[in-house]
Amino acid sequence: MTYKITVYGLVQGVGFRPFVQRAAEKFNLKGNVKNIGGIVEIFVNADHKILDNFVQYLISHKPVGCEVYKTLNEKVPEQTFDTFEIIESEYCNVIPVIPADIGVCKKCMNEFADKNNLRYNHPFISCISCGPRYSIINSLPYDRMNTTMGIFHMCSTCEEEYSTVDNRRCYAQTIACNKCGPILKYTKEGNPLTQAITDIKNGKVIAVRDIGGYHFVCMATDENAVQNLRKLKMRDEKPFAVMFSDVEEVKKYAFVSEKETEALTSDERPIVLVKKNGKNKFPENVCENSNDIGAFLPCNPIQFVLTNKCGPLVMTSGNISGEPIITSNDKMLEIYKNSHYLDAVLYHNRDILTPLDDSIVRIIDSDLQLIRRGRGYTPLPVWLDKNIKNKILASGGDLKASFCLMAENRAYSSQYFGDLENADCLEAYKSNIKRMSEMFNIKADTFVCDIHPGYFSTEHINSICKTPIYVQHHMAHIASVIAEHSIKGDVLGFAFDGTGYGTDGTVWGGEVFEWKDGEFARKFHLKSIKMLGGDELGKNAKNALKNYLWNAGIEIDDKLISSALENDINTVYSSSMGRLFDAVGALLGICDYNTYEGKCGVMLEIEASKANKPYELTLPLNKNEWDVISLIKQISKAKAKSSEISLGFHHAIANAVVEACEKSKIKNIVLSGGVFMNRLLTELCIDKLRKKGYNVYINRKVPTNDGGIALGQAYIASGKVK
Ligand code: ZN
Ligand code: ZN
Ligand code: FE
Repeated sequence: MTYKITVYGLVQGVGFRPFVQRAAEKFNLKGNVKNIGGIVEIFVNADHKILDNFVQYLISHKPVGCEVYKTLNEKVPEQTFDTFEIIESEYCNVIPVIPADIGVCKKCMNEFADKNNLRYNHPFISCISCGPRYSIINSLPYDRMNTTMGIFHMCSTCEEEYSTVDNRRCYAQTIACNKCGPILKYTKEGNPLTQAITDIKNGKVIAVRDIGGYHFVCMATDENAVQNLRKLKMRDEKPFAVMFSDVEEVKKYAFVSEKETEALTSDERPIVLVKKNGKNKFPENVCENSNDIGAFLPCNPIQFVLTNKCGPLVMTSGNISGEPIITSNDKMLEIYKNSHYLDAVLYHNRDILTPLDDSIVRIIDSDLQLIRRGRGYTPLPVWLDKNIKNKILASGGDLKASFCLMAENRAYSSQYFGDLENADCLEAYKSNIKRMSEMFNIKADTFVCDIHPGYFSTEHINSICKTPIYVQHHMAHIASVIAEHSIKGDVLGFAFDGTGYGTDGTVWGGEVFEWKDGEFARKFHLKSIKMLGGDELGKNAKNALKNYLWNAGIEIDDKLISSALENDINTVYSSSMGRLFDAVGALLGICDYNTYEGKCGVMLEIEASKANKPYELTLPLNKNEWDVISLIKQISKAKAKSSEISLGFHHAIANAVVEACEKSKIKNIVLSGGVFMNRLLTELCIDKLRKKGYNVYINRKVPTNDGGIALGQAYIASGKVK
C-alpha cells in the first residue's frame, strides 16, 4: 500500500529530508521525500503497522532544531518505487514554517579549530544543524539557490558531502569551505581576522558584518574605546551589550543561574540580562549604572575568534542611534570613510536579506521573557489555540515597531524595527511587511492598527485598506498575553504603560480591563491628570512632576506650565503609569529626564534595590480611579531615604494591583505594558497575587513593551471576523 505522510512544523533547513531517508532505509521502506514550500511530503510503500512505527520514529528521533507540529497519513493510489530518494522541491500554496538563524554548533567549532580539517579557520563554517537561515533566505523552498549562498558554487568536496546521506552536511544549504565559500575582507592590509584582532586590542572601534547585520565592536574593558563607540553611534547613555567567549567568562562579572546559562547557550544566542556580581567591573560607560549586564555568547565563528582573542567585547548593533541596523557593505564603508571614530570594517560577501538585531531576553519568574525579538527568534511562529480563516496583518505601534502576520493557527511576529519616526526605520518596516507576506504566502485580507490617528503604522495600514480594524493600544497589550498563553475564561488585565491613545481621546497608560467573551471593558485606571502636552511630555520628568504638583494644588515655579494648565492651552489628560514613574523619579531627585525610553523607571528600580525596607505608601482606589495625587503628596512629605521611598512606591503599586483584583471575581490576571519592563514591580505583583491564589500571566514570546502589541491587535481582530 502507498501512503502519503505530510509533516507540518519546522522541517526545513534542519536536515529533515536526509533524516527521513536514513529512517526509511532503517525500516526498509521504498518511496521518496520532498519539500513543498515549508512542509515535507513523504511517499512510502508500507503496511499500516509499519507505517505507524515509521511515523512514530520520525517524531521521536527528529533532528536538533526541528519541530514537528502535526503529521497526516493518507492512503493514495498504489505506486512502485525502486529505492527511497530525496526528490526536487516543489513550490505550493501553503503557509510554511521557516527556520530562524541558528548559532554555530560545537561540532563545527571543533572542525574550525582542527588544523587538518578542510574547514580549518573557515569563518562561514556551518552544517545541517547550524548557521544562518532566515537572514539569507530569498524565497522558498529553502534551497541553496534561493539563498544568498546561491552565488557560491560548491567545490567537489562540498558537493560530495552535500549529497551523501550519512554526512552531517547532507542537504546543508549553507555548506561551504575555504575553497568555495564566502570570504572575509578588511579595510586594512594583512589577514583580515588577525588584523581585526590587533586593532581591537589596540583600543580601536571596528565594524563587523555578522548574521543579521553589522555590529560595532570594541574592548569592553577600554573606557576610551567605549567612549569613541558612543560618539560613533551618537548614543549617550543607554547600556551596551557585552559579548563573552563563554559562560565562565560571564560569571566573572555577573550571577548566572542555570536558566540563564541555558538561554545564553541556546541555538538562538540572545542577549541575556544578568545581574552584576561586583567581582569584576567594566568601565562605567559600558552598562552605565544598571544593575544588569546584557551578556551574550558568540553565534558565529568570527565572534568566537574575536572574543577568544580579545576578551569581553562591547558588541552593539551597527547603526547610528535611531536608525535601522546596517546590513550593506556600501553603507558601512561610507560611514567608515566619513567617521573619525570607526577605525576599520571587517566584512564579507554573503549578503544579508533580512535585517535582524540581536534578540534580548531575561529570566523572570523562572522563565524566559523576550524583550526584543530579532535574530534567532524571528520568524518562528507563536502557535494559537484556534484555526482562523482570515489572513491578518497587524501593524503594531510606532515605538519599538514590530508587525504581525496571522493565519491558520499561528502568528508570525516580525523583528524589531526601532522607532518609525525615523524615515529609514519606516522604510525597513514597510519593505519587511512586503517581504514577509510574500515569503510566508500570507496575503492579508484583514488589516489591524492602533486607534492613534498620528501613528505612522496606522497611516501605513490606512494607505492599503479603507476599512481596517482599530484596536486600542492597551487592550492590545493585554490581548498579546491572552494569545500567547491561550487563556480560557475571563481575564483581568493590567496595562501599565507610557503612552497610548485612549478610546475617549485622552492619553491612557494606567488601565485595568476586564476581558469577557472576547470584549474589553475598562474597569479601573489611574486618575486622569491635566498636563501640558507636546513632544517633551514623555521625556521631561521634571515637567511631568510639575504637572502633578499643580494638580495637587502645590505652587510651582514654572510660569509656562502653570499658565498653560490654568488656561487650558495645549493641555491633555493622562492616566499614564509611565508619567507617574517619571514624576516620582524627579521628585526623589533620581532622574530628571528620560534620555532613553523608560529611564526613570530603570533608575527608580536601581534606587529601590539599595533599600532595606520599604517606606509605607498607598495608592488609594476611589471607586474606579486610583488617586495618584494622594500618592504624590505622600511622597513629597515623606521623611525617609530615597531608596526606601522608591521601594515603597513599587510596593504601593503592587498592593494597588492586588486591591483591584480583590474587587473583581476574576482569577486570571494579566500584566503587560512597558512599565512591566521593571523587574521589581513585576516580581512584586506576581508574588503578592500568587499568595492570594491568582493565576498570573505575563508576556513570554513577544515583548511586554510596544514590540508585543501587534500580536494582541491580530488576536483581537481574529475574534472580530468570521
Ligand atoms: Zn554546525
Ligand atoms: Zn567547498
Ligand atoms: Fe505601550
